[in-house]
Amino acid sequence: PSQQTSSFGPSVWLEFSPLSVKHKSVNLGQGFPDFEPADFVRDALIKTIEKGGLNQYTRSAGHPRLVNALSKFYSPYFNRDIDPMTEIVTSVGASEALFCTIQSVVNPGDEVILIEPFFDIYLGAVLMAGGVPKYVSLKEEPRVEGKKRTADGWKLDINEFEQAFSDKTKLVILNNPHNPVGKVFKLDELTEIAEVVKKHPQTCVISDEVYEWMTYDNAEHLRFANIPGMWERTITIGSAGKTFSITGWKVGWCIGPKPIIHSIAMAHQYIPFSVPTPTQEAVAIAFEEAPARGYFDQLKKMYQAKRDQLVSALADSGLDPVIPQGAYFIMGDISKIKLFGDQGQNTSITGMGKHLHDWNVCRWLTTDIGVTAIPPSSFYSDEHAPLSTNYARFCFCKKEEVLETARQNLLKVK
Ligand code: PMP
Ligand code: GLN
Repeated sequence: PSQQTSSFGPSVWLEFSPLSVKHKSVNLGQGFPDFEPADFVRDALIKTIEKGGLNQYTRSAGHPRLVNALSKFYSPYFNRDIDPMTEIVTSVGASEALFCTIQSVVNPGDEVILIEPFFDIYLGAVLMAGGVPKYVSLKEEPRVEGKKRTADGWKLDINEFEQAFSDKTKLVILNNPHNPVGKVFKLDELTEIAEVVKKHPQTCVISDEVYEWMTYDNAEHLRFANIPGMWERTITIGSAGKTFSITGWKVGWCIGPKPIIHSIAMAHQYIPFSVPTPTQEAVAIAFEEAPARGYFDQLKKMYQAKRDQLVSALADSGLDPVIPQGAYFIMGDISKIKLFGDQGQNTSITGMGKHLHDWNVCRWLTTDIGVTAIPPSSFYSDEHAPLSTNYARFCFCKKEEVLETARQNLLKVK
């Protein structure tokens, strides 16, 4: 292996998805819906295939119908006219958008600030670009007995964040709404972050907003690029997989200022060259039709009900949940579970030897309880991994009856 990839081992996904299949557990691990997308989304792809003529490569930086649909749809949300040809690049899922953005911004030796816990793919992409990760952890407020915990109680210590900067800091990666905590950053929090970023003219921001339509309890999703002064240095990343429950289609995009979008497009032409044409066409149709169908309100309502269902299942099972305001994951407290042979050995986010409490509990939940969850220490640097070993991440983008079976199984934990 190359120097950049030599530290990589199988990720958390490669262990827990097959383990769930092997033990026929209810899979609340990897985040993907187990239900079909809305009919109009599915029909858009069927019609595209039936119509024909869209089975070859399309424009590298994005299929024209999709970039036009994205521009029309997103311009009002960013309070500006987004140029479809120069301010948008489409990608093979948000994953490739992240990879290309990091490749086109980070030089070997540049520092990248990652806020723990973070979606593990960020670290892989930063290391492949030769970047040097710098970690700042969200801190959970001390628990008050009898009071419900919410994702809002996880805060970024702005002084610690500021101290993580140096003159080599090229990039900050934000994720809002947040995977795995479910935090939705408020205006004052985003403004504080922007104030720090402004002091470092060489620093760009990736705002990974793939869960932008999943917010609960009246939490409002705010776009980081809309904070004054941030558009020029922010790349906002989105995902049709999350937005339309079609993770297997792998369509995503980046939206941002011309110069950065240009370099992303230049990287993208040498990575997949283009994104599959039929799925881009169908996602374009989905965006064209979704607002008039009231789709986004329905999506939110559907997920709010699923969130409530899993929150109560975890609470009833003694796995005290951190109630999320966004995304589709819940952190459940596993500190009361004591396993024989559980040891405090360190884990490695990119390697093997994953023996922390959360990994052991997640394996045991799969093999003995029949529910798969994800150990959140995989979303931390090695040095900070012990911070999160009292949680497991449970995903609720599943059918009602599947969440009910999960509840029945989880009650065995109590
Ligand atoms: N960012 C976050 C925070 C995610 O949870 C995911 C989930 N897969 C992605 C990006 C990648 O999205 P996609 O499936 O569109 O590649
Ligand atoms: N984003 C999803 C999750 O966090 C899927 C992860 C993946 O496919 N690597 O579960």
